[in-house]
Order: sequence, then structure tokens, then C-alpha cells
Amino acid sequence: MLRFSISSWTGPQSSLLGWLLPRRCGGCRRLGDWLCHSCLALVRRLEEPLCPRCGRELEFAAAGCGCRERLRALARARAAAAYEGPLERAIHRFKYEGWRCLAPALAALMVERMALDGLSAGLLLAVPLHEARLRRRGYNQSELLAGELRGRFEVPRPPGRLVRLRDTPPQVGLDRLRRHANVADAFAWRGPPLGGEPVLLVDDVATTGATLEACAGALRAAGSGAVQGMTVARVSV
Ligand SMILES: [Zn+2]
Ligand SMILES: [Zn+2]
Repeated sequence: MLRFSISSWTGPQSSLLGWLLPRRCGGCRRLGDWLCHSCLALVRRLEEPLCPRCGRELEFAAAGCGCRERLRALARARAAAAYEGPLERAIHRFKYEGWRCLAPALAALMVERMALDGLSAGLLLAVPLHEARLRRRGYNQSELLAGELRGRFEVPRPPGRLVRLRDTPPQVGLDRLRRHANVADAFAWRGPPLGGEPVLLVDDVATTGATLEACAGALRAAGSGAVQGMTVARVSV
């Protein structure tokens, strides 16, 4: 099994697109970098104590979280930073305004967190978009992040595909219960049985972890080992 190691991270590399376009900060649009120093300084990394399962910031280490009830298939979720300020703006541009060039800078934040948590897996999969939405958007932002991480850690492409069977309405504005119902049974693994392989699931933002949990359920049903989730940001709930 391949394991990620922080030593193999070489930092964001310039892509062809980065070469052709002037670099502009995804947080404040200032020219120079995809995430400028002032915006990076404002990115609030999540701090311990975190819930061992869902990654929510807890007030006290011993404080209960209650996520065990709804996160059954997902072993652990971690996010690099809070979904606020310049990072929220950058992710919005990355996701909805075609700023694909932000992928390396956002993946670098994930790697910071992965180094702290020692996340490891044999398979690295992105949370998929439904085909219809993929056609409309032209790309899956989470797949760009997963591609960055695979490249950096030399993890091979997966032997199959995680697919989204239903074009579920966006989770925004739904409460916790509705979020889980909205994505339940929305995903399936298309490929060979996973033979106990641990999986790292990659997404841009997590809120209650409902989407990661639904993906983890599909992967566990296909025979995967422990499924962990890693996102750039986490919405405080
Ligand atoms: Zn900036
Ligand atoms: Zn929790």
C-alpha cells in the first residue's frame, strides 16, 4: 500500500495555465500569487482540540460532539481551515467562476493539515459531481484537488470511479437531517471490489460531513477499508 509522506511534497508547481495567465489572488484579486501572503495570513487553520471523528473544533478536549450517530461509514474527516474570509472567496472562485489555477494553492493547505494528522491511504478519490452538473461546470473542482494530491504523493489513479447517481440539490440552506437525506444512496462505486483498501476522499468544503458519509457508505459497500475525508475548508456548525 502506498502511503503519503510529507517529504514528497514539492510545493505548488507552475502549470501551463499559470504560465499563460498572470497570477491573481483568489482571495483579494491582487496580482502576484494565486493566494497572496496577506490572504494566507488570514486563513484560519483549525485548531485542536478537534472531534476525533468529524474534525469539528471543540471547546474542550473532553467535550462530546454527537456526530457518531450520523457518521457511521466515515472513519474520520479533517479540514485544513475554516470556511470564511479570503479562503471562502477563493473557494467560491475555484468552484463557480472557473479559477482552476487555484487548485495547487488550495491543495497545499490540505497537505499542511495532512502532515499534522498523518492521513494515509492506498486510494485517493474525489467526491464526484453528477454528470449533468459536470457538463454545466466543465470540471469537478474536487477532482482537480485530488489530482494535485495524487501527483504530489505519487498515488496512482484509482481502478474505477465513484459516481453520483442523482443530481442532488445543493446542500446549502438544508439542515443537518435534510442534508443526510438529500445525499443518502446518491453515490456508487463503479469498478473492481476494493479489497479492504483504505481510501482518502477529497472535497472542497464540508459542513455536516453528510456528503463524505454518503460516499464512504458506497465505498464500504464495495469492500473498501477505512474511509477518511479531507477537505480544504470546514463550515462551522
Ligand atoms: Zn489576497
Ligand atoms: Zn464530531
